[in-house]
Amino acid sequence: MQIKSAEFVMSNSEVAKCPKNRLPEYAFIGRSNVGKSSLINMLMQRKNLAKTSGRPGKTQLINHFIVNQNWYLVDLPGYGYARVSKSSKKTFQKFITNYFEKRQQLVLAFVLIDCRHEPQPIDLEFMQWLGENQIPFAMIFTKADKLKPNALERNIEDYKTKMLETWEEIPPYFATSSSKGTGRDEVLQYIDAIN
Ligand code: GDP
Repeated sequence: MQIKSAEFVMSNSEVAKCPKNRLPEYAFIGRSNVGKSSLINMLMQRKNLAKTSGRPGKTQLINHFIVNQNWYLVDLPGYGYARVSKSSKKTFQKFITNYFEKRQQLVLAFVLIDCRHEPQPIDLEFMQWLGENQIPFAMIFTKADKLKPNALERNIEDYKTKMLETWEEIPPYFATSSSKGTGRDEVLQYIDAIN
């Protein structure tokens, strides 16, 4: 897929206020600092479409971007940040679960995972929840340039092994590097193929 246009549409905290038309949408979500903004900018080939954040947990809204006038890229808040209170964590969970449960236009979620870490409970639990709620998702292992190919392979294998404890099959997955552009064609082709 060629990206001919990518524009910010709106930010909000309520599913009911998201765009009303029926264009398909693809959501991006992951722990704060996983490299989500960098990945979105890399995919869209724009420097500042999604803001890269120095302060984890700052962007707590649903952000819609329209791509090629025919699909939405949705930038969801990062989860798992340590610096927020319990009550705002609860509010956050509610609003994210609402989005996933209610948003009929959602085609697929990309769950971003920092490739350097061993399988993290918070990511595994989140994917488990998506699975239980029958929300299709794919995994994106970010910051692939930070590991040697063997180490990257090993970490992805660890994830697969961990997931196969509870899943019958592994969801589609990609490895990306926003600094090198790795994985861009694969992710965009994947979206294109479903769209
Ligand atoms: P977000 O909080 O998930 O939106 O993460 P950001 O996109 O703001 O990235 C967090 C940090 O990781 C920043 O310092 C980025 O420069 C860095 N980063 C993000 N993606 C990559 C990548 O693919 N490779 C490398 N080496 N660093 C990355």
